[in-house]
Amino acid sequence: MAKIEMPQPGALTDLPMRQLTELHADIDARVLSIRENNADWLCGKGCDSCCKRLAEVPRLTAAEWDLLREGLTGLAADHLQAISREIAALAESAARPVICPLLDHASGACPVYARRPVACRSYGFYVQRDRGLFCHDIEKQVADGALPNVVWGNHDTIDQRLGGLGESRPLTEWFAEWEREKGAIAG
Ligand code: SF4
Ligand code: SF4
Repeated sequence: MAKIEMPQPGALTDLPMRQLTELHADIDARVLSIRENNADWLCGKGCDSCCKRLAEVPRLTAAEWDLLREGLTGLAADHLQAISREIAALAESAARPVICPLLDHASGACPVYARRPVACRSYGFYVQRDRGLFCHDIEKQVADGALPNVVWGNHDTIDQRLGGLGESRPLTEWFAEWEREKGAIAG
């Protein structure tokens, strides 16, 4: 997963957005702590395997979608149109795993990196009680004994906090609704 752009502080100030910002900060702290103690950590720009093997279409709470939509709005029109086509195709497909329709395949970068969903932020650094680690590449390092001292984040806590932000919906639904709204405004 990888990088671009910076968020606009204070752009959205409602309670779910504040809670989401706090959640981001806690994830960032956990990620920073792990990276500080493991200088050659695998996750980095161009490492996009996780973006290409999503178990399902990404689901986002309204606050996550609001943030992501800001990032999408900042993209060039032809880039956004290409993403729109990818999302429309994904909405019609039952193939799994899912390749994220936002991924820039040429660079392996995320075009909305600073505004990406929570799942993308925590992916390589958190474990879940029933599923363990999510990333096979990191899992292999653990199996090889390469990461004995990592204090992993607890993804069950992340899920609980996300649940407190309200219902989550698939990216395909949020995006289609946004396009309908834009179409209605454009007349
Ligand atoms: S979670 Fe795994 S695949 Fe994703 S960036 Fe990190 S090392 Fe690469
Ligand atoms: S939103 Fe960005 S980081 Fe998340 S899966 Fe898609 S391309 Fe990867």
